[in-house]
Amino acid sequence: MVTLYDTTLRDGEQREGVSLTVEDKLRIAARLDALGVAYIEGGFPASNPTDSAFYEQARSLKLKQATISAFGTTARKGTLPSDDRALRALAACPASVVTLVGKAWELQVTEVLGVSADENLRMIHQSVRYLVDAGKRVFFDAEHFFDGYKHDAGYALAVLLVAAEAGAETLVLCDTNGGALPHEVFEMTAMTIEALVRGDVGAVVGIHAHNDGGCAVANSLEAVRAGATQVQGTINGFGERVGNADLLAVLANLQLKMGYRIVSDKQLALLTSTAHFVAEIFNIIPDPHLPYVGSSAFAHKGGIHASAALRYRHAYEHIDPALVGNFSRVVMSELAGKASLLVKAGELGVALPSDDRRLQSLLDTIKQREARGYSYEVADASLSLLLRAEQGKALSCFTLESFRVIAEKREDGRVMSEATIKLMVGGERYVATGEGNGPVNALDAALRLAIGRFYPQVETLELTDYKVRVLDESVGTGAVTRVLIETSDGATSWGTIGVSDNVIEASWDALVDAITYGLLVAGA
Ligand SMILES: [Zn+2]
Repeated sequence: MVTLYDTTLRDGEQREGVSLTVEDKLRIAARLDALGVAYIEGGFPASNPTDSAFYEQARSLKLKQATISAFGTTARKGTLPSDDRALRALAACPASVVTLVGKAWELQVTEVLGVSADENLRMIHQSVRYLVDAGKRVFFDAEHFFDGYKHDAGYALAVLLVAAEAGAETLVLCDTNGGALPHEVFEMTAMTIEALVRGDVGAVVGIHAHNDGGCAVANSLEAVRAGATQVQGTINGFGERVGNADLLAVLANLQLKMGYRIVSDKQLALLTSTAHFVAEIFNIIPDPHLPYVGSSAFAHKGGIHASAALRYRHAYEHIDPALVGNFSRVVMSELAGKASLLVKAGELGVALPSDDRRLQSLLDTIKQREARGYSYEVADASLSLLLRAEQGKALSCFTLESFRVIAEKREDGRVMSEATIKLMVGGERYVATGEGNGPVNALDAALRLAIGRFYPQVETLELTDYKVRVLDESVGTGAVTRVLIETSDGATSWGTIGVSDNVIEASWDALVDAITYGLLVAGA
């Protein structure tokens, strides 16, 4: 039996540039509960108002199976727990579980904490006991456990024993700086569990791994193999520096490859949507290359490979993607042949001509465009529009008469852009002007104004990412600019592309595809 302990809301939020509101935390907690996580760590009560509010409001979440836990550190040196403001806040917090962190590396204790090794043991014992007496279930996070164990195994074990003796029910071995390797984690975890059994300590052993050596998931699995039964981690591996163990990859590996039954099949199928949901709340574009949940995790590129992948799925896909709520897809590229184009078109919901000559000419068009710098791998929506156009089924929202963009550097130092667009939509001529902090912003604003009355659905579309790349001049025609735009309607997102030797024109093409596709999806 292995339980999952999620610390996305505490350790995950340590990721640079991330700050979650109470509402964000509550929404994530509800999704973690649905996924089947056993414990959800909300943050530090008392250290900041957001976290205190989270604990108050989490009571009304009606979680089905998850237990909320609070996080804090042992009493400060020379202070009794009852005189320590943070510990008093933990005791008073509505969470029934408290995870208390204490140092397990003697060097850290004396050098960083500035207390004697014995004083550290006393602080841990008193702090754990104080919370147990306050009616809390206490999990003890042994900080720097693996480094501490290498330096002085006896002291690292003494720290665990003292926490267990004071009433901690779970002892979590933390690889705080993320540098441990899988074989070390296995050996040290196994030896630790052996020592605990010898000492007749019945506490559960957990693992908390960081990914600095790129081994956080592997380290977590090795700890489980050695007997640990609680795994701490974060969704998508979000966390400080290079992040924590990715709890989703850990879960999928344990359940699909190692024979553990942790969540139901239905819950496991929520893996991909949970990953994307949490990324969106963190305001981070979901990483397409994450194991199991990335949009490229089951993407097949190349003609021969793609058609083979369809016939021999086991050879190219390590699991059935549906098990984790993901799906296979074929990536269009210069390597693509007719077989993969057919598959791709099916995926995009476009019927291709069955007659071979037209199919070949379509393929030639794609290849020519790719030679000019288009890359349909990252622009499914543009490809979909291209295929539809080839069948004469293109949705043309408007006819452009002209546009003009100006950039202005103002006295206060700001640079503003203004765009004016003239176009025909629904048989009428519209002229609209939009402003923005850049030319693409301004064009987007003007276009929405111009077509907004005819297509009110345009309101729901949001440009979420804009990337420009200058392609090299080796083609001999001078530098070419490629613009990629990612757009979302709140439910799904799609990529579009524009290529031109003028960045504004490339941006315009990608923008028009983005809006056209969005309107198509919205049924305009
Ligand atoms: Zn951590």
